[in-house]
Amino acid sequence: MHTAEHILNSVMDKMYHCGRSFNSHIESKKSKCDYRIKKGLSGKEIMAVERTVNEIIKLKVPVREEMVSRREADKKYFTGKLPEDAQELVRIITIGNFDACPCIGEHVSNTSEIGSFTITSADFNEGILRIRFKISREEAEERARLAV
Ligand SMILES: [Zn+2]
Repeated sequence: MHTAEHILNSVMDKMYHCGRSFNSHIESKKSKCDYRIKKGLSGKEIMAVERTVNEIIKLKVPVREEMVSRREADKKYFTGKLPEDAQELVRIITIGNFDACPCIGEHVSNTSEIGSFTITSADFNEGILRIRFKISREEAEERARLAV
């Protein structure tokens, strides 16, 4: 879920220039992310987001972590969600060359382990777009089983 959130944030920012989600709630069953954006997205646009996230998942992009100093993190990454008193070292999660952002959550080692990504709803209200999504591991687990 955490890794899926990173990809979704990156896709949203790249496609609609709305920045990463400013508020999110990540759980194992379903999650939601809020974005500040001028107008809501059409059904077609939402489907394009979902498709793009799934394309990245299928590419088996390696997910790595590195530790950088807080000062370097503030310069290079979106650290708006880090607490002011975050430690001197910040963990950065990179997804290939596609995305990098600070996070303390748990992540997969490559994107294909995520499974399939589905946007279950998207509502737009007063400048805030809320995207709810879930991931289905079945496909990923099936693939892993067949590979044994
Ligand atoms: Zn994360």
